[in-house]
Amino acid sequence: MKIFLKKSIALLPFFKYSKNNRFIFLYHNISDKNSILYSPIYTTEINNFKTYIVFLKKYFEFISLDQIVNDDLTKNKNYASIVFDDGFYSTKEIAYPLLSTQNIPFTVFINKNAVEHNRLWVSDIKLNLTNSAFKNAIFPIVKEMSNNLINYESFITSPYEYISTFFSSYLISQIEHYVPINKNKIYLDINDINFLLSKGVKIENHSVNHFILSKCNHNEIKNEICENVSFIKNNFGIDSKHFSIPFGKKVHYNKETIEIAFKSGINYVYTNNPMPLPSQQDYLKTKQKIIPRISILNQSVQELSFLINRTFFKNYNL
Ligand SMILES: [Zn+2]
Repeated sequence: MKIFLKKSIALLPFFKYSKNNRFIFLYHNISDKNSILYSPIYTTEINNFKTYIVFLKKYFEFISLDQIVNDDLTKNKNYASIVFDDGFYSTKEIAYPLLSTQNIPFTVFINKNAVEHNRLWVSDIKLNLTNSAFKNAIFPIVKEMSNNLINYESFITSPYEYISTFFSSYLISQIEHYVPINKNKIYLDINDINFLLSKGVKIENHSVNHFILSKCNHNEIKNEICENVSFIKNNFGIDSKHFSIPFGKKVHYNKETIEIAFKSGINYVYTNNPMPLPSQQDYLKTKQKIIPRISILNQSVQELSFLINRTFFKNYNL
């Protein structure tokens, strides 16, 4: 019965019959499965991405992030906005040509460290999951941070989970120390971003280092958000108004994160809670908003349809 229900929810596009729904769809990296930049954790395959755009275009009007968060839209349509987190190079190389030919606007949330050094600890780990020299170097540090609670075998099996669990800025600095500099271009650099800006793509804030902000102290959170605000201002002349929380779930941020973001001039904070934008008038008029987004990886079109449909039946708070 449950499977039957799930199937029907997936197949019927309920959003076709309901209007004034607003969804933000979040992607990370777009590449082919055989690309060296492919990671099953954050990559959407090119053909899947193309299929999603065709599907979404049937039911939604694509608008920019600035438009979707404002309340001056006509109520007889459904709206969608496309965003990319982390500033992967593929947003320029693959997403931009695909979306610009269809006049679909999009926003890229960037991290200063990735732009300047072509690396972030998250991808450093993911690209080194099979590098045993790296794992051997990092294990003693993680072990110490866990008060000797973990053993080598379990760490080797899932290093990413353990590093996330025992996260600290010190641990991350050690990861940067032990991971070889990546020869492949993973992230957008300043020139790439200037190119995208010249084509009308929007650039916004995703913190300096992609730390787990709920595990940072006050000064670290402040630095992560404000230094990225200055970075975007100094390099591109943009006053950053939109901030996407690294990892984006409730466990990844706290009250302090939100307060610091709004104090630094940010008006819109984005999570990865898979819901539409609330439609209540009072919400749309609030100046400082916390906005949900649906993160997409490689779902089938039915699964994507299900992710949208289920929000009509259940209020998620992840
Ligand atoms: Zn991210």
